[in-house]
Amino acid sequence: MIRKIGVLTSGGDAPGMNAAIRSVVRTALSNGIQVIGILDGYKGLIEERFIELNRSSVSNLLSKGGTILGSARLPEFANEEVLLKACEILNKNEIDALCVIGGDGSYRGALALTKHGINCIGIPGTIDNDIPGTDFTIGFDTALNTIVDCVDKLRDTSASHHRCSIVEVMGNHCGDLAIYSGLSTGAEILITPETGLDEDTVIEKLAYLEKSGKNHAIVIVSEKIVNINSLSSKISSKTGFASRVTVLGHIQRGGAPTPSDRVLASRLGEKAVDLILEGIGGHCVGIKNNSIVSTPIDEALNKPRENKKGFYRLFERLV
Ligand code: ATP
Repeated sequence: MIRKIGVLTSGGDAPGMNAAIRSVVRTALSNGIQVIGILDGYKGLIEERFIELNRSSVSNLLSKGGTILGSARLPEFANEEVLLKACEILNKNEIDALCVIGGDGSYRGALALTKHGINCIGIPGTIDNDIPGTDFTIGFDTALNTIVDCVDKLRDTSASHHRCSIVEVMGNHCGDLAIYSGLSTGAEILITPETGLDEDTVIEKLAYLEKSGKNHAIVIVSEKIVNINSLSSKISSKTGFASRVTVLGHIQRGGAPTPSDRVLASRLGEKAVDLILEGIGGHCVGIKNNSIVSTPIDEALNKPRENKKGFYRLFERLV
């Protein structure tokens, strides 16, 4: 019998996490279950920093970016003694189950807790769209909108100055933010973990674009794969474009979530609580072909993510 559940946000924050918290809280309360908000992820859990959440604690939350619960990283959570301490604290506070909103690292923590007897459900909250078990993560759509807005603006100024704008986007080893923003903005060149980087090909492509009359170019690059400053110097010295670097950074994480992220978060939060009510733990929720689904976390983490080859083919055909 479930009487009290906890909810926490962990890893990098993402717009829409608050909408997921609201959904978890209101779905649970409507089933007569008490909800405890755990502050700053697993760190707040082992420090026993809890607040009770009621209907009004999650009012006016849908439009707020970030997470009202705070988020943190606690690498020690993988250690057995830290996990045991977390279980002891949860048992002492009579918290029967947990909803964990975060990325794949947070899922690993959720799985470990489940194996120690506390049922946990993972809800995918990250802008990177790098979690298996779902087509889209909460926050991806908002971050994509932010990137597209920035790149549209950069294109205006690049076109006025015969520039090549190199724009670094997030993704944490996943090229989804890059390929979706590349397709949405009509970028000229993409460099992602999926494409890799061949500098000679990039220079050749830019030279070709210049020859064919293009007065500017946008290059979208996923973070963590190239030194964009050295790439930029090479472009400036080997092509007729003056190259400029823009690292979008944490601006991609902020802002009001899009309606699409709010709806996704609401649907996933509801499903997480429903699973807990069914006595299920160690699963993650997701959206597949517009249906809300759940998958055992260990199965999801071992599955390769959807292949985006068709997206890259389309990008090359339209450029
Ligand atoms: P993002 O995608 O935004 O980086 P994430 O959830 O993947 O989010 P991580 O820093 O990888 O972010 O993980 C968040 C937290 O989950 C870690 O700080 C740690 O507390 C916990 N965690 C990660 N891996 C494990 C593990 N193997 N076992 C237990 N806990 C883990």
